[in-house]
Amino acid sequence: MLDLAAAASRSARAGVRSIEVLRTVRELREWRGETGDLGLVPTMGALHDGHLSLVERAVRESERAIASIFVNPTQFGPAEDYRAYPRDEANDLALLERAGCAAAYLPSVEQIYPAGDDTRIVPGDIAARLEGAARPGHFTGVCTVVAKLFEMVRPTRAYFGQKDFQQLRVVQTMVRHLAMDVRVVPCPTVRADDGLALSSRNAYLSETERASALALSRGLFAAREAWQRGERDAAVLRGAAGGAASAAGRPEYVSVADPATLREIAGRADRAVVSLACRVGRARLIDNVLLGMTLDELAAL
Ligand code: AMP
Repeated sequence: MLDLAAAASRSARAGVRSIEVLRTVRELREWRGETGDLGLVPTMGALHDGHLSLVERAVRESERAIASIFVNPTQFGPAEDYRAYPRDEANDLALLERAGCAAAYLPSVEQIYPAGDDTRIVPGDIAARLEGAARPGHFTGVCTVVAKLFEMVRPTRAYFGQKDFQQLRVVQTMVRHLAMDVRVVPCPTVRADDGLALSSRNAYLSETERASALALSRGLFAAREAWQRGERDAAVLRGAAGGAASAAGRPEYVSVADPATLREIAGRADRAVVSLACRVGRARLIDNVLLGMTLDELAAL
C-alpha cells in the first residue's frame, strides 16, 4: 500500500491522468451517458486501503467504476470536524486512477446543494439509535447526499463498507423504501495488521492514542470469541466488548443489536452486530463485528 501510495503521488505530481475528473452534474451526465453498467463508490476522500478495497471490487464487477469524493457538510453536526476533516485531492485521484477507476466525481458544495436547497431525506427508525442518537441529523445528511449521488450518477451498484454498519443499513433501507434502482453491495471492514479498523479519522491519532485505540477492536474481538465459544447472552457479549474496549476510554455506547433493525437485543443473540463508539484524543472512532450472519445475507435484507 505504501509503495502504491508513493507511486500514485509521483504520477499525480507528473500530472499523468487516465481517470476522468468530473466536477459538475453536467460533466457527470455527459460522461455517464444513457446506458451501461456502472459501479459507484461514494467517499469523503482521504482515501486508505479500506476505500480502495471497495473501489477494487467495483472495478472488478463493473463495466465502468466511478468514485465520488465529497465531504458532505449536512452530515456533520455544528461541533464536529467538517472543516478539519482530512482532504488530499491529488493523492486521492492518483490512488483511484491506479485502482482502475474510470472516473472520479468531485462536486463542489454548490453542485450538491444549489442555493436555497432545503430538501432533505429523513430516515426512520433504523436511524434512531447508536450513531443516529449520538449525532442528531447525521443520517438525514447521509441519506440526502447518497440519494442525490444515486440520482446524479445512476449507478447499477453502489459499494458501502461494513465499517459504517448503521450507515449501510440506513442506505439499504432508504433504497428499499424509495424503490431506488440500485443494488447496495456491503463490503468487509479492512483492518491494519494489529486489528485497528482503517479510517480517515485515524489521521487525528498520535502514536500513543493509536495504541490505546486498539482497545476498540480488541473489545469487539473478545465479544466475537465469546460468541464463537457458544455464548449467546447479549448482556454477557456486551460486557465482553465493553470491558476490553474501556482501556481506550469510556465508550459512548457498546451495543449488541439485531443487524436488521439495529434494536438492542435483550436476551439471546443468535445473530448480532456488536458495535461501539469511543473518543480517543480528538478522534471519534466507531467499529463493529457481525456475528452469525454473512455480508451476503446482509445484502439480501
Ligand atoms: P468515508 O470516506 O468515511 O465516508 O467512507 C466511504 C466508504 O468507505 C463507506 O462506505 C465506508 O463504510 C467505507 N469504509 C471506510 N473505512 C473502511 C474500512 N476500514 N474498510 C472497508 N470500508 C471502509
